[in-house]
Amino acid sequence: NVTTAVLEQWVRRFAHLVAENRDYLTELDAAIGDADHGSNMDRGMRAAVAALDASPPETCGALFSKVGMTLVSTVGGASGPLFGTLFLRIGSTLGDDANAAPLEVAAALRAGLGGVVDRGKAGPGDKTMYDALAPAVEALDEALAAGTDLAAGLKQARDAAAAGRDATTPMLARKGRASYLGERSVGHQDPGATTVALLLEAATEAPF
Ligand code: ADP
Ligand code: MG
Ligand code: MG
Repeated sequence: NVTTAVLEQWVRRFAHLVAENRDYLTELDAAIGDADHGSNMDRGMRAAVAALDASPPETCGALFSKVGMTLVSTVGGASGPLFGTLFLRIGSTLGDDANAAPLEVAAALRAGLGGVVDRGKAGPGDKTMYDALAPAVEALDEALAAGTDLAAGLKQARDAAAAGRDATTPMLARKGRASYLGERSVGHQDPGATTVALLLEAATEAPF
């Protein structure tokens, strides 16, 4: 089982990767959006880390709920509510417990995907964060079902997220600002899918 402290290291590592990639994420959004995705996510994750520093969460649920609430309240646009809901759903699924079993982590990530879909109504091929997150959720479930341990399963999920991110490039955007561009959205990698790939990358760098 993983502890709240390990999950917190995942979140902090994600914040670090978002900070490192802030300008890159914003460049991706400049091509098909309004050039704010990197600054949005960096502002939100900096605030989330500050909230964790101010009062360290004692349960897995409290950890992710705090991050989700911080993202919703500090990030506007599409990504605040979408990434906020992702973390809030992970938190409500993990609940009031200081530990989580591997299957609970996978179930929480799947519930997070459900939250993103409830909020944004995106599906496969719409060129959004969904296209990186759904394959990652699927890969983690399959790995655990095959008896793979959580750390190795997260590596498979990371690879699936990266492949899903890359697959957004030829897609025509059907959701969010990029959809306003129609055919001109083709040939550009989706910023939100890129951030999801960083979230899974961060998981493989945490001590699961
Ligand atoms: P905004 O578009 O409001 O400026 P951001 O630039 O921070 O917000 O985030 C853009 C990202 O949000 C996109 O790259 C895409 O992955 C994601 N996104 C936008 N709309 C949706 C949606 N309806 N469902 C899922 N993801 C979406
Ligand atoms: Mg934007
Ligand atoms: Mg914006």
